[in-house]
Amino acid sequence: MTRDPRPTLLWLRRDLRLADNPALTAAARGGSPVIPIFIDDEPRMGGAARWWRGRSLAALRQAFAELGSRLIIRQGVALDQIMSLAQETGAGSLHFNRRFEPRGLTADAQIVTELRGSGIEVHEHHGNRLHEPWSLKTLKGEPFRVFTPFWRRLAENYRAPERCAAPTALTHPRAWPASLDISALQIAAPWSAGMTTQWRPGEAGALALLERLPAKIPDYGASRDRPDVEGTSRLSPHLAWGDISVHEIWRRLAADTPPASNGFLRELGWRDFNTHLLYHFPRLPVQNWNTRFDAFPFRQAPEDFAAWCKGRTGFPIVDAGMRELWTTGWMHNRVRMIVASFLIKDLLIDWRDGEKWFWDTLVDADLAQNAGNWQWVAGSGADAAPYFRIFNPTTQSAKFDPDGIYIRRWLPELARLPRTFIHDPASAPDDVLLNAGVKLGRTYPYPIVDHAAARGRALAIYKALGSADPGGASSAESMHKAASRQRNLFS
Ligand code: FAD
Repeated sequence: MTRDPRPTLLWLRRDLRLADNPALTAAARGGSPVIPIFIDDEPRMGGAARWWRGRSLAALRQAFAELGSRLIIRQGVALDQIMSLAQETGAGSLHFNRRFEPRGLTADAQIVTELRGSGIEVHEHHGNRLHEPWSLKTLKGEPFRVFTPFWRRLAENYRAPERCAAPTALTHPRAWPASLDISALQIAAPWSAGMTTQWRPGEAGALALLERLPAKIPDYGASRDRPDVEGTSRLSPHLAWGDISVHEIWRRLAADTPPASNGFLRELGWRDFNTHLLYHFPRLPVQNWNTRFDAFPFRQAPEDFAAWCKGRTGFPIVDAGMRELWTTGWMHNRVRMIVASFLIKDLLIDWRDGEKWFWDTLVDADLAQNAGNWQWVAGSGADAAPYFRIFNPTTQSAKFDPDGIYIRRWLPELARLPRTFIHDPASAPDDVLLNAGVKLGRTYPYPIVDHAAARGRALAIYKALGSADPGGASSAESMHKAASRQRNLFS
């Protein structure tokens, strides 16, 4: 009596797609019954990301059902779940695409050791980033710290792997292991109405956005900084969840414009650069890359932080961005930079508090991208924005949302203000405010900080920081002196 071939476990994580999924293609090619599995092993996941994941998994489960297969859902420590599934099913092998966050790397290393120790084959694949973080090194053989040389090397060396066609059928096991329902991973999301209308999580939604890309790309360089127009791809949540393959995007985009002069591909390069940083500096989400910033005298200012979170700072571009984030789980990149700079440099609130708020409210929340970008804006990151680059929210608003279209979209209470005053309502004469129905301090807040004074305070701190020995006693002291010299402006 021929024994059934031992099934193969296909472990999906942030690669929730059938097309161009190397682990799926390899598992299907093996000829054994394939058991697709997803394990909820990320306890710290934010609410918006959890919302997206549930919908993307539901789309993937449907796609497997159309192949006569299933998606087995489990929850808990990945090692325990994998070992138990291997035992329940008598699996002979496991396939997965590599992930690069510190927790995931540790868990995967343990699982590979345990399974191989039990005689089960483990096949790791490369499917979720353009490069593998150990594969690119500087001429000195070290990890990259600066984006431009990293991007140059990546663009020179990168060759898109052969496309893996989505399988048309999957051999399934005689008996399926038990599965949770996706609802077990969900959370009640009364706040998600705005997200439901904005997004179509899953592979089909990602491909629909990809189809629209070429039309947008010609003027990507000009339009990508404009939140008032549809000038970017909005693919980030689909990339964060692997609804779409980054290699597929590259194949499409690089076809007509070489990487070196392709602004869009360069942004995909930033996504890989932040992953490179996180892999080589796993403390990126919690610790300043540049330890000089450890002495930075951040303020404890819960009221200011709450005003920022709710979009009630009195700076329209900041408030519009924070309302867009709360409503849709996404915010335009230029506005992310403005709101982050405002929190850190105008309010002197710790970048980690902003990172945590974004982590919970972004549908594209990604550990490397979030931490890498927050540190970039703070000036404490690798290859960060120069510390004296303190965005002026009002001039940024006039430059990137000149007619206030973005502000009006997200701040209806200011919709009737004329263009001249939409970026800075507090500068409007009383009769203009009256005609527009704006009552400062009532329908819309006064600015919670004087930007010019805040800028002076931040520059003094950064300057003292710059002159102090990194981490030396004098740095904390000089910091506080610089801050208090300025602080009486805000008491
Ligand atoms: P496009 O302009 O269409 O770019 C194409 C792709 O390139 C994006 O989908 C994204 O994957 C990548 N990309 C673009 N800009 C960046 C960037 N600055 N850094 C890294 N990758 C980039 N992006 C996330 O995916 N997850 C996050 O958690 C995240 N947190 C951020 C926090 C802050 C403070 C800032 C300033 C930026 C953050 N970003 C994050 C980066 C960026 O804002 C988003 O990736 C971008 O807004 C996504 O929109 P898009 O897909 O239309 O981008």
